[in-house]
Amino acid sequence: MTKEQATDQQEAAKTPDSSSSGSPEEEQESRDRVAEMEEQDRRLKASMDKIKQKIVVLSGKGGVGKSTVTANLAIALASEDHGGKVGVLDADITGPSIPKMLGVRSHGLAMGPPGVFPALGPYNMKVMSMDYFLSSDEMPVIWRGPLKSMAIKQFLAEVVWGDLDFLVVDLPPGTGDEALTVMQSIPNIGGVVIVTIPSEVSQIVVKKAVTFTRKLGAPILGIIENMSGFVCPQCGAETNIFKTGGGRKIGEQLGVQFLGRVPLDARICDDSDQGTPFIMQHPDSLAAKAFLEIVRNIEKQIPRQPPNTKET
Ligand code: ADP
Repeated sequence: MTKEQATDQQEAAKTPDSSSSGSPEEEQESRDRVAEMEEQDRRLKASMDKIKQKIVVLSGKGGVGKSTVTANLAIALASEDHGGKVGVLDADITGPSIPKMLGVRSHGLAMGPPGVFPALGPYNMKVMSMDYFLSSDEMPVIWRGPLKSMAIKQFLAEVVWGDLDFLVVDLPPGTGDEALTVMQSIPNIGGVVIVTIPSEVSQIVVKKAVTFTRKLGAPILGIIENMSGFVCPQCGAETNIFKTGGGRKIGEQLGVQFLGRVPLDARICDDSDQGTPFIMQHPDSLAAKAFLEIVRNIEKQIPRQPPNTKET
């Protein structure tokens, strides 16, 4: 999808659908459209079949660190220790932030006959985001549901992901239509990671996220409690700003594994803003160690599959 196509889609979203009068030309047009969609579904399946594990990162609401977890999880899976071929799909169409967090915002996308080539991030990770198709930071994405669904399908079908061990998908926040559309577009989800913060209010939305995922029939890998405790860098005293332990408690209540807690660390925010992935910058910090422990807990549940023999 080029910037022009993205703009056309935004324009189309503003005008009501008027294609139901049924002239022979219009009928032919709808047949062509159906054939085009079927062809896209076929390409989507072929592209997704080359990816061994699709991990989706979900949160019941925004601002809890879903994108931060996605970025650091992807880095951990791609790092020398794990050595996976990793792709990251920023499916948060209205608030894309993954390219900035991974420091690949200025990277161009190459277009070729097989499709759009993703940007290459740390450890050769492949990154795709709506961010690349917005002409300015001020330009919001104002699309109706079907257009968002089309964009997501294009990201899955037309992007040249190649053979990957993992595709980590940053979902739109919440459990509304947008998240639903993305989840339904990804075939064979290997597992869903639910990110929360420890407050009581957040536990209520975690319940919704668990029910949402179960209704869609996707396996839940577990819950991450982010922003869980703060250790003062000056005096070393720990303060539980959003309480702590809520993620574990709700996991026990709902029969979902608790993957671990990540403390508040001001450097996470700084690193995200500067596009220098936190766990690469501060591997010895408590928070980086927590991320790595979480990745180990995830990997225990999705065993590594043998390498593909075919290269793309
Ligand atoms: P979401 O994707 O859920 O909306 P983000 O990942 O964008 O949330 O995080 C929101 C903000 O909180 C960002 O500025 C991010 O850098 C910061 N943040 C996330 N997790 C932590 C943490 N553990 N410590 C400090 N800042 C964090």
